[in-house]
Parts: sequence; structure tokens; C-alpha cells
Amino acid sequence: MLPPAPPGVVPYIAGYSEEALLNPRIVQHALFPGVAYADETPHDRDSFGMLWVRPTLLPKRRRGEPRLREVHPYRQRRAMANMLCQVCTRPPEDLDAPSLFLLRDTGGPVQEGERTASPPVCVPCAGISIQLCHALRRDHYAAARVEHAPAWGVAGLVYDPDTLIPLPGKELERVEYGTERAPWTVAARTLVALYGVTPVDLEEEFSRLGTDRLEEEFARFRAATRVNG
Ligand SMILES: [Zn+2]
Repeated sequence: MLPPAPPGVVPYIAGYSEEALLNPRIVQHALFPGVAYADETPHDRDSFGMLWVRPTLLPKRRRGEPRLREVHPYRQRRAMANMLCQVCTRPPEDLDAPSLFLLRDTGGPVQEGERTASPPVCVPCAGISIQLCHALRRDHYAAARVEHAPAWGVAGLVYDPDTLIPLPGKELERVEYGTERAPWTVAARTLVALYGVTPVDLEEEFSRLGTDRLEEEFARFRAATRVNG
């Protein structure tokens, strides 16, 4: 049985009210066809050479109120790059063991090769998420263990090469690394592709960990939330 989730847990990747996106001036890149920032620094690109949105970076106490529906681009990227739990930032216990992914239900199990912007979760945080996260509650989720989750690309704003304004359409487009659109994209999320997918029953994951351990983990959250709050 899953113990009740500690209230007030704010996932690591969540946004906060005082964290805004800055609006650096977009220019044509000097060396190749693509976009750049007029005042670009090496921090504006990831290890794949993708240009990234520039969010404000604030110390925790100055971030304001949590915005649970928003995602901080850099924290999302960091969680994906290191396969950290998106809620508590716990690194994988065993680097060779398949990571647990908990995705919003799209009408079936997680598919082989499916791409997602949702970083992994640890088992205790899966137990918290399905209780507290509105998008996942009442069994509106699909859980899977995933053997490999290589970076596939980004979700971002694609710019028109002629006008240097964003192409009309969806707010964030999925763009694969190395494709024609990639140099014209300003990334806001890392997307990984999921391979070696085995659907899991979360109840089994919880019982394998045991109620005592889950309660212990939830109590740590309760203590941490009190200190921060
Ligand atoms: Zn966690």
C-alpha cells in the first residue's frame, strides 16, 4: 500500500513565479546558416551546439511561488543529461539498471522509441507524483522501465531563416539533433528517445521497495518542505 504523499512537494524541474525567460536579440549566426544571440556566450548552447532559451537563474529563496505546470529549461536539461529524478534529483542508484519513466497516459503503454521531455523519476517520487500531480492522477499515466534514453533532440521555437521570427504553429516544435531545422531552433527542453522499454506496474515497484522505506522517504520530504517553507 502506498502511504499518503507528503503535501507541498515541488519537483526540481518546476518553474517559479519570479523565473522569467529573457529576450536576447536573435541574429543570423556569423559562421553558419542558423540563429544566434547578438550577445551570445558559450553558456547559451548545449553540448550538441543547440542554442537555448535564456531563463533567469535565481537562488532558491528569490524564486517566488512554485508554478507546478511550468518547467525550468535548464533544470529540465540537467535532469535529462544526468538521468536525475525530476522531483528530488536523486541520481540513478545503478547506472546499468533501467530508469523509471512516468509519462502522461496517451491511451496506451509507453512505446519503443517514444520521445519525451519528462525526465525519469525514482520510485518514491513516482508514489508522490501519482498522488499530487493533477496530470497523472486517477491512473492517467503510463510507467515503464527504460534501458537506454539517449538525447534525441529538443522542443523549441523554430525561426524562419528569412525573417528571423518564429515560424507560426505550435509553441514548441520537436526538432531532432543534426536536422535542417536544428540550427534555426531555440531549444527549451531536451527530448530523449526511450529504448528497451518494459511497461511496469507501479504497485509492484512500490511493494518491492516496501511501505517502511516509502514512509521513510516521504518523511524526508516532509522535513525538507518544512525547512524551505
Ligand atoms: Zn525522486
